[in-house]
Amino acid sequence: MASLIHAKEDIISPKTEIDTAPMMNVTISQGNRKDEEQSVHHAPIVSPYNDKIRPLLDTVDRLRHLKITQEGIQLPTIVVVGDQSSGKSSVLESLAGISLPRGEGICTRVPLIMRLQNNPNPEPELFLEFNEKIIPTDEGKITDDISIATEEIAGEGKGISGNPLTLIVKKKGVPDLTMVDLPGITRVPVHGQPEDIYEQISKIIMEFITPEESIILNILSASVDFSTCESIRMSQRVDKTGQRTLAVVTKSDKSPEGLFEKVTADDVNIGLGYVCVRNRIGDESYEEARAEEAKLFDNHPLLSKMNKSMVGIPVLAEKLVKIQATIIQRCLPEIVRKINAKLLANEQELNRLPKHPNSVAEAMTTFLRIVGSAKESFRKILVQGEFDEYPDAQEMHCTGRLREMFDKYSQELHSKNVVNRDFLLDKIKVLKETKSIELPNFLPKAVFLTLLQRKVKGISTIPLDFVEKAWSYIEDVLTSVLLRHCENYPQLISSLRRAAKNLIAKKKQQSIDWVNVVVEMENLTNYTCHPEYSTTWSMLMADQATLMHRVNDPHSSNVVYIKRFGEINIAHLRHFKGLVEEAYDVKMRITAYWDIVLRRMVDNMALHLVFSIKNLVNKEMQRNIIEELVGPQGTGLERMLEESPSVTEKRNKLEKSINLLKESNNIVANIIDISFED
Ligand code: GDP
Ligand code: MG
Repeated sequence: MASLIHAKEDIISPKTEIDTAPMMNVTISQGNRKDEEQSVHHAPIVSPYNDKIRPLLDTVDRLRHLKITQEGIQLPTIVVVGDQSSGKSSVLESLAGISLPRGEGICTRVPLIMRLQNNPNPEPELFLEFNEKIIPTDEGKITDDISIATEEIAGEGKGISGNPLTLIVKKKGVPDLTMVDLPGITRVPVHGQPEDIYEQISKIIMEFITPEESIILNILSASVDFSTCESIRMSQRVDKTGQRTLAVVTKSDKSPEGLFEKVTADDVNIGLGYVCVRNRIGDESYEEARAEEAKLFDNHPLLSKMNKSMVGIPVLAEKLVKIQATIIQRCLPEIVRKINAKLLANEQELNRLPKHPNSVAEAMTTFLRIVGSAKESFRKILVQGEFDEYPDAQEMHCTGRLREMFDKYSQELHSKNVVNRDFLLDKIKVLKETKSIELPNFLPKAVFLTLLQRKVKGISTIPLDFVEKAWSYIEDVLTSVLLRHCENYPQLISSLRRAAKNLIAKKKQQSIDWVNVVVEMENLTNYTCHPEYSTTWSMLMADQATLMHRVNDPHSSNVVYIKRFGEINIAHLRHFKGLVEEAYDVKMRITAYWDIVLRRMVDNMALHLVFSIKNLVNKEMQRNIIEELVGPQGTGLERMLEESPSVTEKRNKLEKSINLLKESNNIVANIIDISFED
């Protein structure tokens, strides 16, 4: 049988004893004498610290079996990568001393986790683990069983899958190693392979080699230029300095020329060094294969020049065992810390999940609490301008946003109706229509009112648009506040949305009614007791004389400067000489009065809005929502008694994860004391 490792009792020669201090770059002292070299080839691989490492490796394997990586906790792993047919399976086969599916094309279609365990029992024991099943197998059947398992995981044909298959090999003489064999990389899909095979395989490989905890075992065929290997490019992407990459060069027997130079030059940055091997060829037995390998590196004129610490499967096995010990010892404390942190976080999250109410009374209490806290949040952002609950959500900073809307409203009101073209012409037309037989300079009230009504009509849509916009905005904010507070009771969402909608619709209608009354009042009566009206009018009238002078003098300039209106062309006014004076007066009265109207529109709107919002927050909101949910038509409370599926799902997921982490914690608790004492 393949005996890479002899039983423990006969292994320890001073030469092969390995420093127990963890280290990554392993070199093995070499002997000069022939017999010493011989003993390197058949070197026992079990090192004295294996007794210590074995439980650690078992721990990691048990964590892997629990699928702890699902919790985002990465395990130290030796990952085998290489281009298609570079010899990955052959290397694993050599290490395990068993036959694996091997050959041209893509054989490995799922990640194969290989757990090698040295076992005193002379009878090897082999198991396949996949899809929650454990299937015993043996050396004769293993190739077929792997193919059957692969088909069950990845389907028949050439498809691949990221779900792993675990092969456990308990055998006397194998090194205690766990490695993952991955599908080989291929650029070009061959017969029956899916079109995106390269992307699929790259994705799986990247998943395995990206974590810092992974050691990349890069299998390179001696016959190729290493720098063109796809697997080298991939490992360089995640491990630039190569500090966690070890290269295994296969097929040394086929391409010995220049191999020594290639590995010495190290053009591709392999931090953990190279090991050149010769795998089993054809029907050779393992013993024959190892003997042939030893002969090759001893006698070949080119290959024998290589340092013995760089050649042969036993050297590779020993290096891997050492590297594995190092990474496990380095990673375990962090893994323990992560398990505990994750466990704590999940337990806290589980506690935060809403207690499920058991009675209508309990549901009522919960509901009132939700509405109460929503009301408080709403008051803060809408009335008090406190944004501690929404520091970064600009759209929830209501006082500021409403202020912006309001300023825009005011600007819009002021910019409407400002036209300097055909100065006074509209006034003249109205005067002409309304004049009856009466004294000149006697301004009829109807003229003023007609003109005022036109102006009011011109702006009447602006306050309506504004209240429409303001309440739509407040509805969005109210809905979002309510939804945030009932996060854990999604069954309330639709009722709360409806409540918010109905409530705001009511408020909006009130505002529209109010605006209509205000506009109607401005339409019907012209009144102000504000002294500014007279002051402004007098000030504006000061330019009347100049204007009249120009209008009456055909030789004077057509342009007159009038306060508030600037440079005005008056050519057209010369046709209406008799009416200009009065028209000017009317215009200035309207102008002075319009200032007052606009101020009323703006000020009253501000008062109205603040008043309505305060009423909404302080009185209406809570009452309306409660009525909507628990009123005659409301079914909200009954619905609260059923736990929502999403919360149930969250709870189940957390509970499952907590169990897994607790189990992991138990596993690591057993070894943590023994593993880090030195
Ligand atoms: P994988 O696709 O990377 O798993 O490659 P395999 O392990 O299936 O090997 C591909 C082919 O290369 C097989 O026919 C092997 O027998 C052959 N092979 C692997 N290693 C060696 C070696 O060291 N020497 C020789 N001569 N052939 C090898
Ligand atoms: Mg393979």
